Amino acid sequence: MPNSEAVYFNGNYSPKNQTSLSILDRGFLFGDGVYELIPVYNKHIFYIKDHLNRLKSSLESINIDSSLVDDDEFIKIINSLIELNDYVNHYIYIHISRGVDKKRNHIYSKECEPTILIMGENYKPFDKSTIEYGKKAIIEDDYRWLKSNIKSTSLLANVLIKNKAFTDDAYEALLLRDQYLTEGSASNVFIVDNGVIKTPKLSNKLLPGITRKFLTDLIIENKLDFEECDISKDQLLTSDEIFCSSSTNPVVPITRVDNNVISNKAGPVSMELYNYVQEFIRETYK
Ligand code: PMP
Repeated sequence: MPNSEAVYFNGNYSPKNQTSLSILDRGFLFGDGVYELIPVYNKHIFYIKDHLNRLKSSLESINIDSSLVDDDEFIKIINSLIELNDYVNHYIYIHISRGVDKKRNHIYSKECEPTILIMGENYKPFDKSTIEYGKKAIIEDDYRWLKSNIKSTSLLANVLIKNKAFTDDAYEALLLRDQYLTEGSASNVFIVDNGVIKTPKLSNKLLPGITRKFLTDLIIENKLDFEECDISKDQLLTSDEIFCSSSTNPVVPITRVDNNVISNKAGPVSMELYNYVQEFIRETYK
């Protein structure tokens, strides 16, 4: 396709720069939709079943029938995009909105046909020296809604918070609700405390990250000490290590939080996990 990658949009493949949407799409008007972001490693789709299951659960949570996601069909579409665009290490973005409505109205009409967009995006994960150096984070109040377990496209609060972090030269904002850690603005958060890896337990206050699950699998497989528990601001700031996890960068050590130094470089447990991740990707997606 000339000058543009192919995207999948409502049953057809079209060039990314020529695919457009109705102004009455509820995703555009209300952020009324959900999404997924799935890494592709060496042309292979990462943890696809988990991503599709989370997508279906997000759809059900906003009253959209999840049977529109047929696993085999979606995998076929993603593989077609990988082939058509020659993706090697990209990520795939799936966006499903409630669809185009008759008029702008908070109350949605039952006849809305969901809009489905699937496209790839180029990205470059941090290199190992950046990981070893570690990143800065800031602490912010978690003022998002109480359904943060839904991977909703309504991301205004996350966008504002992440931009605040960016303005402060930080990679991420670590969010506190009632003085307890929930997650980052676009990542889950882990700490290491006396050799024990800890992360907040799943609830309506945080996204069930697929990388969080992947890391948990690696932690259990490698018999590291692990606990899902409440983490106070004080525990966060006095921990031995902190790292963030997300699909684009599975382990990002945080060495500075606001004006506090956590460690002068990435800690040993964070680096051990980072290396397990790299090894898993190398060995699984040859
Ligand atoms: N929490 C939030 C708020 C996110 O936006 C993300 C994804 N960027 C994550 C956690 C991590 O989720 P995943 O590991 O599935 O990418």
